Amino acid sequence: MRIDRSLEILVPACIAAGAACVAGELSQTINSLGVMSPSTLAGGTLLLVGATAGLLNYVVTRRKSRELARQATAAIASGQPKFIEVPQTALKPLVLALNDCFNAAERTVVDAQAEVKELEIQLKVATGQRQQAQAIIYSINDAVLVTDAFDEVLMANDAAAKTFGLDLKAISRKPIDQALNDPALVTLIRDMRQSKSCNERRVVEHRVRRNDKDSVFKLTLSAIGDGAVGGDEEPAGVVAVLHDMTRENEIARMKNDFVSSVSHELRTPLSSIRAYVEMLVDGEANDEKTTREFYDIILSESNRLGRLIDNILNISRIESGLVEIKRQPLSVMVVVKEAIDVIVPQAKVKNIRVEEHLEPSFYQTNADKDMLYQAVLNLLSNAVKYTPDGGTVTIRTSVDEAMGKVAVRVIDTGVGIPAKDLPFVFDKFFRVEANKNVAKGTGLGLSLVKNMIETVHKGNMIVESEVGRGSCFGFELDLC
Ligand code: ADP
Repeated sequence: MRIDRSLEILVPACIAAGAACVAGELSQTINSLGVMSPSTLAGGTLLLVGATAGLLNYVVTRRKSRELARQATAAIASGQPKFIEVPQTALKPLVLALNDCFNAAERTVVDAQAEVKELEIQLKVATGQRQQAQAIIYSINDAVLVTDAFDEVLMANDAAAKTFGLDLKAISRKPIDQALNDPALVTLIRDMRQSKSCNERRVVEHRVRRNDKDSVFKLTLSAIGDGAVGGDEEPAGVVAVLHDMTRENEIARMKNDFVSSVSHELRTPLSSIRAYVEMLVDGEANDEKTTREFYDIILSESNRLGRLIDNILNISRIESGLVEIKRQPLSVMVVVKEAIDVIVPQAKVKNIRVEEHLEPSFYQTNADKDMLYQAVLNLLSNAVKYTPDGGTVTIRTSVDEAMGKVAVRVIDTGVGIPAKDLPFVFDKFFRVEANKNVAKGTGLGLSLVKNMIETVHKGNMIVESEVGRGSCFGFELDLC
């Protein structure tokens, strides 16, 4: 706006200055001829003749002066001054004509200066906009690649460098097929540029192979127009944005798996309960012993259903951060002792010996008592479940004062877990195929323990196992 206004002011000022200059020049020339002085000439006729002659003389002299002025300025401009013969009478008009030329040149210089200023401002604005665009592109987590009308890389951000293993400095202005080792993407970018569909978008799914794994991206291609008007716009380049969908797809898959696993796990005890209730309704339990047996099965299946629902809710509450955590300084040894007291009667049923090696109870940790108790109980319960009759379950606590850690280990002489299954034992609903017949379960117990120890208490799970020899499950927490 400032430029326009200054131009508005400048242009009339130049015209006015030019007009004033010509008028002044004319009066000076006429004055120089001396025809305007009434004191030197007598009579109106003489005055008129003199004026006409003076005017003619002025026109002729002026044309000559202009020619001389043109030659003089050309000589100055060429940098090779030369002598020009100037008749005495043309001297003054020549000076005036030269003055004209200099005025015109001055006006041109002023105009050019204004233009330079305007261009400088435009350049500053363009540089600012470019820097802003670059900052935006670099701050985006998605991979962004910008190419020009010749399919050369104009810009690429860090995410693009990471995704395609690019050296950003080395690929600048390089043809896209040389910069990028992804022929499919190169073809898509080229097609988009050649499509002549300016300011249009194309969204496709694109796979990129990274570290021997396929990653799925949502690729958005936009052709940028060259700004030509009247429908003649040509694509001046392409912007490619790649949004990594791998994690989102994985989460969607996990959700589906979870829902189908939950439905399956809920259906099993429900079907069992329904079947036994139907048998009771149909009078199939003739004697009291059978009736009692049916009632026991229904009760146990209902309990299983309840545990399953509790576990699912607890895991989802912890994972979504909605669980209420009541931390307090407590002794892990005291909590472990309480859990042992509950598990000993179950162990006795299977003739399993329970051995305990506990550190003194004055070592404390900052923890939620109910969760810690539940975690220890789940590990002890599994140890008893997956240990055949007559085995041993040992519970050991150890304190590392230097590291400020307390560890709890539940070691059994049970069936053990194959090495190939060990990495998955903490996954929801995972049950070791080989141990399915050893004991009933939901595959949620260890997942809950891991969540309570690692997510809530920032501790670490411990697991070691050998088929036929037994397992060691435990965890490590910070002392307070
Ligand atoms: P489940 O309800 O099936 O016991 P968990 O999540 O507690 O579910 O355990 C997952 C799987 O890990 C179990 O199905 C079992 O195969 C295996 N497992 C857990 N603890 C032990 C153990 N002490 N000994 C052998 N296998 C175990």
